[in-house]
Amino acid sequence: MTTIGILALQGAFVEHAGVLRGLGVETREIRLPEQLDGIDGLVIPGGESTTIGKLMVSFNLVEVLRDLARAGMPMFGTCAGMIVLAKDTVQRYDQPLLNAMNIVVHRNGFGRQVDSFEADLAMPVLGDKPFRGIFIRAPYIESIGEGVEILGKVPDGKVVCARQENMLVCAFHPELTDDPRLHRYFLEMARGCRQLVQASRA
Ligand code: GLN
Repeated sequence: MTTIGILALQGAFVEHAGVLRGLGVETREIRLPEQLDGIDGLVIPGGESTTIGKLMVSFNLVEVLRDLARAGMPMFGTCAGMIVLAKDTVQRYDQPLLNAMNIVVHRNGFGRQVDSFEADLAMPVLGDKPFRGIFIRAPYIESIGEGVEILGKVPDGKVVCARQENMLVCAFHPELTDDPRLHRYFLEMARGCRQLVQASRA
């Protein structure tokens, strides 16, 4: 049985659990380091990345999450979660980042709350049907480094979904749509990573 942890410090963690359970996996809310034992992947939800960051520090999660990311744990960061997984932000706020993915993100890159919007995104890895992206004070990916594959852009060309090995990020909120394709993609990715880790131990 696959168990996916969902960082449940702040933000839209309940909605992610609903989508993942609909896809037939177990979910576990993560607030403490010991709750990470035995999970097959981790979702870092949208919310407010500065708040999630402060709580990660308070709950002693920063180092352990950095180590797990480096060790190959599949992680899926949505919106604020994408910021948390990034190497850096354009504005260089004083907030802890996991530096797990070779991307620099522009926080609130589409403007403030009133500039929240929805857009149909062409995402070839999910098939021909466009994916409806819900953007809420969303970031976008300003620059990508080596090893990062772009999976989706908004019509004006800003990168809003990407993958690097065991890391998947998107700037929008896939858990607020009834389209589970991006979560399913993450589960397939997580299963692939597990096989790789097992093969390397064999
Ligand atoms: N604006 C938020 C941040 O910078 C992200 C918003 C979201 O997750 N919907 O952390």
